[in-house]
Amino acid sequence: MLNFTVGPVMCSEEIRAVGGEQVPYFRTSEFSDVMLENERLMLKYAKAPEGSKAVFMTNSSTGSMEAVVMNCFAESDKVLIIDGGSFGHRFVELCEIHDVPHEVLKLDHGQKLTEEHLYEYNGQAFTGLLVNIDETSTGVLYDSEMIGEFCKKNGIFYVCDCVSSFLADPFNMAHCSADVMITGSQKVLACPPGISIIVLAPRAVERVVNAKVKSMYFNLADALKNMERGQTPFTPAVGILRQINTRLKEIEEAGGADAEVARVAAQAEDFRRKISDLPFEFVSESPANGVTPIHPIHADAYRIFEILKDEYGIWICPNGGDMKHTIFRVGHIGCLTHEDNTTLINALHDLHKRGILK
Ligand SMILES: *Cc1c(COP(=O)(O)O)cnc(C)c1O
Repeated sequence: MLNFTVGPVMCSEEIRAVGGEQVPYFRTSEFSDVMLENERLMLKYAKAPEGSKAVFMTNSSTGSMEAVVMNCFAESDKVLIIDGGSFGHRFVELCEIHDVPHEVLKLDHGQKLTEEHLYEYNGQAFTGLLVNIDETSTGVLYDSEMIGEFCKKNGIFYVCDCVSSFLADPFNMAHCSADVMITGSQKVLACPPGISIIVLAPRAVERVVNAKVKSMYFNLADALKNMERGQTPFTPAVGILRQINTRLKEIEEAGGADAEVARVAAQAEDFRRKISDLPFEFVSESPANGVTPIHPIHADAYRIFEILKDEYGIWICPNGGDMKHTIFRVGHIGCLTHEDNTTLINALHDLHKRGILK
């Protein structure tokens, strides 16, 4: 199998080897050391400001999006949600479920967020902003610095879902003044799904500690308190946390966060260059590095996904909802090489020859 989806992605051999080991008991100083090292490296790679904390949640990243909405906002807030695709829309649904007053800045699929869009909401007493820095459904990268500037001017609490963007696109949490950063184990961290990480800047730590949350599992103050000694309130996905530890150290050895971002960018660039003579259109106005959404001009996107899977052993990433038949995505994250890109391109050329791609 050759996997070009956006998660779960291909894992390195080292990560898979750790997955084959016995899972140890975790209320030990040894496991606490692993967790504290995970926190240290996560804060470093997120370029989080002094005094930031990380919590490791055993849930997919949607669970962390929900936890952040529940722990950081209340009925007294008024939040702005950037909704340019299915992940932006998920924040809208979460705010509806949890009665957080909100307005939606809606963008078309693939549309870039500009200052003009954003500043229509200037000076309107917003208290929070929720954005998916890479709106993975359309591969649009939003400008975290530009949004941060807007939030600073308006005194807005700034939440970045970097689930597919962390370690794929440049991100500096301290510099863009983000209060919260969310990511997950199965995207650029290239581990199995099951763990999501929330990085909290000092202002977010303060907010979380003082929040009144009607939830046991999603109580982030409890998670923070346990994390002081490298622990979690409940049994975490111990095996995946050990794989994350291996992966974070692997990134360190390969030159750190910037080197990983450069690697993903080169992987994307190589693919976009190789695909340019096929009958496709790019979808995104400001493409993120992690994924390339593609519109086949004269073919059904979902059919291409199925044929590649069933006849070539190659997984690209289908889209859902109203984009199912018009857009498929090719991921550039995980343990992939430029040769893997060539294998996929050759398969697409073959589809072209067979008349499936016109
Ligand atoms: C993958 C992803 C998520 C989380 O999806 P889960 O299925 O809950 O892991 C959230 N936001 C973005 C931008 C993503 O790419």
